[in-house]
Amino acid sequence: RPPFDVNAVRRDFPILAERVNGKPLIWLDNAATTHKPRAVIERLAAFYEHENSNIHRAAHELAARATDAYEDARQTVTRFIGARSPEEIVFVRGATEAINLVAQTFGKQQIGAGDEIIVSHLEHHANIVPWQQLAAEKGATLRVIPVDDDGQLRLDEYQKLLNSRTRLVAVTHVSNALGTVTPIAEIIRLGHAAGARVLIDGAQSVSHLRVNVAALDADFFVFSGHKVFAPTGIGVVYGKAELLETLPPWQGGGNMIADVTFEKTVFQPAPMRFEAGTGNIADAVGLGAALKYVERLGLDHIAAYEHGLLEYATAGLKTVPGLRLIGTAREKTSVLSFVLPGYRTEEVGHALNEEGIAVRSGHHCAQPILRRFGLEATVRPSLAFYNTCAEIDTLIGVVSRLAHARR
Ligand code: PMP
Repeated sequence: RPPFDVNAVRRDFPILAERVNGKPLIWLDNAATTHKPRAVIERLAAFYEHENSNIHRAAHELAARATDAYEDARQTVTRFIGARSPEEIVFVRGATEAINLVAQTFGKQQIGAGDEIIVSHLEHHANIVPWQQLAAEKGATLRVIPVDDDGQLRLDEYQKLLNSRTRLVAVTHVSNALGTVTPIAEIIRLGHAAGARVLIDGAQSVSHLRVNVAALDADFFVFSGHKVFAPTGIGVVYGKAELLETLPPWQGGGNMIADVTFEKTVFQPAPMRFEAGTGNIADAVGLGAALKYVERLGLDHIAAYEHGLLEYATAGLKTVPGLRLIGTAREKTSVLSFVLPGYRTEEVGHALNEEGIAVRSGHHCAQPILRRFGLEATVRPSLAFYNTCAEIDTLIGVVSRLAHARR
């Protein structure tokens, strides 16, 4: 068996056998969401068939099973991203809620009038808007690391932005619009040297690259389960233990308290302090199953296979007359973004859909970076390890046909 047997892997994903418009489904919208392997689907069913209960409360058998399953998922996340302990892992709905949690806890407590927050030009709206809202509320300033013409961050400009007022640097690991892999180790090191905390948005990275938050020394690292083969509605905030301990709660309610009287509430330590109410227990368990599945395949094998696919697809798109590829950084993963002169991006998307190919066309919730390249929208095929060169050939075939028809 080769180190990465894509045909065997594809059989793990039932939805890949779907047909769309009479054609086999070609799923190239993995940056929007990924499909779920049978291991995840079956884990969810097993949870509801054998373990379903609320957690951390009632002392009965199913509560114990559900609590064990939920805490086992937290252990798996801890290992998967290289955190030091499960106390550093908070379950939330997804990357968006994760960033809002950090803004409403760390941000509310640590960022004041005249302080500065640095983001990059590559950010998804989820890593812009919460900081803009916080800055407006506090009288703080949002500053932006520019990118070069290839779509890579300008580290020289970043260094100029850092100063003693910088409280937080919030930067993506991988751009969802261009696929740029940013130099996060360097970004974290420089941020810390200036006395700032650093949040990394790992929404587009954890399914493609090995991450070790402790080695990176990240203060916060966030991601969404649904982009790493897990269910929707579950995601993670990693926060350094000593940092989480000092932060106030976010939402109040059950689960997050140690003691309540009408005069005063004593809160639980992290992570429970940040998990008010009944959380998404089953999907957290599903996330654990998804990460175990990815671990079994091995992120190094995945990254090597996907690198080959990306090179193949990039070379193929470059053969299409007139096609303009956006995002040409040397360090890239899994995302291709392009425009085809003579066609609106939706027209390209529709033509691809006719052939069973799913891509995203639009602004990808990252308007600032597209406008940096003078665009409002691109066509964005995005890869996962279950894609094949044959699927890329079909994509290039349709795009080439369009290019030749219009000339
Ligand atoms: N950050 C990045 C880089 C993303 O790609 C996304 C999702 N497109 C998000 C944040 C937000 O994730 P979610 O919608 O799952 O909360």
